[in-house]
Amino acid sequence: MKKNIFVLSTFEMIITFLFLLIVINNSQSQGNSSKEYSKIAEKFVRVALQDQQGYKLLEDLCKIGHRLTGSENSLKSIIWAKKTMEDFKLDRIRLQKVMVPKWVRGNVEKATIIQSKYYKGKELHVAALCPSISSNGIAGEALEVKSFDELKANSKKAKGKIIFFNRPMDPGNTNTFYAYGSAVNQRAQGAVEAAKVGGIGVIVRSVTTKHDNNPHVGSMGYVDSVIKIPAVSIGLIDADFLSEAITREPGLKLKINLNCKTYPDVESYNIIAEITGTEKPDEVIVFGGHFDSWDKGVGAHDDGAGCIQALEILTLFQRLEIKPKRTIRCVFFMNEENGLQGGIEYGRYADTAGEKHIAAIESDRGAATPRGFTIQSETATLEKIKSWLPYLQKALIEWVQPGGTGSDISPIKKCKAFFGYVPDAQRYFDFHHSDNDVFSAVHVREFELGSAAMAILVYLINEEGL
Ligand SMILES: [Zn+2]
Repeated sequence: MKKNIFVLSTFEMIITFLFLLIVINNSQSQGNSSKEYSKIAEKFVRVALQDQQGYKLLEDLCKIGHRLTGSENSLKSIIWAKKTMEDFKLDRIRLQKVMVPKWVRGNVEKATIIQSKYYKGKELHVAALCPSISSNGIAGEALEVKSFDELKANSKKAKGKIIFFNRPMDPGNTNTFYAYGSAVNQRAQGAVEAAKVGGIGVIVRSVTTKHDNNPHVGSMGYVDSVIKIPAVSIGLIDADFLSEAITREPGLKLKINLNCKTYPDVESYNIIAEITGTEKPDEVIVFGGHFDSWDKGVGAHDDGAGCIQALEILTLFQRLEIKPKRTIRCVFFMNEENGLQGGIEYGRYADTAGEKHIAAIESDRGAATPRGFTIQSETATLEKIKSWLPYLQKALIEWVQPGGTGSDISPIKKCKAFFGYVPDAQRYFDFHHSDNDVFSAVHVREFELGSAAMAILVYLINEEGL
C-alpha cells in the first residue's frame, strides 16, 4: 500500500511530540525570564530610590573629609569602609596592601602680584598641582600662552618667566570629557614644557566648566631629564583677571609661595568585599571606583560616589534576597588620581589568583543621571549586552556602545568584558578636583539610579554569563 504522507508512524509521532514539547518549553522559559528580568530590574530601581541607603553611606563617608592618597584621612576612610562592609556581613572582606606615593599640600599657597602700577599686592586664588615641588618664593614676569606651540614660538621670551597656560576647556563641545581632554595637557605636562624653555614656574587655568574662583587641582608630571619647577592651578575668575592684567601691563611680576612636599612611599590598601557565588564561585564579576580623592572638596562625585554605588550593588542583591551564582565583588581602588597603584595591584591579583574574571565595571564619572555603558569586548559579547537594553532602561540607561571604560580596571589583562558607567556629564567638571566636590553636589535620585543601573547589569551578567 502506498504510504499516506499525512499518516505518521508511532515513532514519528513521538519525535514530533518531543520536538513540540522542547519548542514550547523554550519559548515559555524565554518569555518568563524576559518578564522576570523586567520585574527584577524594576525592583532594583524601586528599592534603590526608596531606601536611599547608598546615599546615606556617601554622606557618612564625606563627613570624614578628603581622601588624598597616603594621608591620615585616607586611613580613617579605609577603616570606615572595612567596618561598613563588615556591618553588612559581606563575604571575604579584605584589605589588599598597596605601596603609594605621599605628597602633602602644605599650608602656604600663594600667588601675589608684587610689581605692577595697577595691581601690586593682589593675591590670586591658586592651588598646587601634585606632585609640585615647593616654590622657594620664586618671582618673575608672567608670560601668557594658550598652547605648547605658542610657548615654543615664544621660547626666547620665556626664560626666567612664570608661564601662564590659559587655554580653556572647549565650551562648544557637548562631550565635556572631550573638552577636558582638549585642555588638560597644560596641567599634565605644562611644568616640563615650561622648564624646557627656561620658565621658572607655572600657573595653569583650571580645567573646569565652572566660572568661579576655586582652583581645580590634579596630577602633573615631571621628567628626570628636565629641571623641576613649581606648578599651580588658578580659579577661572582670577585666570581671566590675570590675562587682562598682563594685556594691560605686560611686564607685571608675580611671586609664588608653596610649601608642599613629597615624602617616601607609604603603605595603603584596596578594600574588597564580595558575595561569593553559589554555583560558579570562581567566575568573578568585579566592580568599583577609586577610593582616593584630591584634597580639595571631599571627592563626593570623584569618586566617593562610584565606590559607594559599587558597594550598593552588593547590598541591593542582599535586600532583594538574590544569591548570585557567580561571585560578585566590589573593590575600592586606592591611588587612581596620582599613581594607579591600587588598580595595578588588583590587576596583578586578578590575573594570577586562579579565578576567572568575566566582567569588570567602573564608575568614575560622577553621580549624575544615568545615560549609558561603554564596553570593551568582542563583538558577540557587545551584541549580547545590547540586547539587555530594555532591562537597563528601567534605570534610565539609554545606550550601550563601545568606548573607553575605566583606569582602575584597565590593568586586568584576563577579563572577557570591561564596562564604564556613564552618567550625564554636563556638570561633572563644575565639581571635579575642587572645593565644589562636596556631598551636597550629589543628587540622591541621580546617585541611586546609578547604583540600580549597575546592579541590573551585574544581575544580567550573573544570570546569563558572557
Ligand atoms: Zn576619578
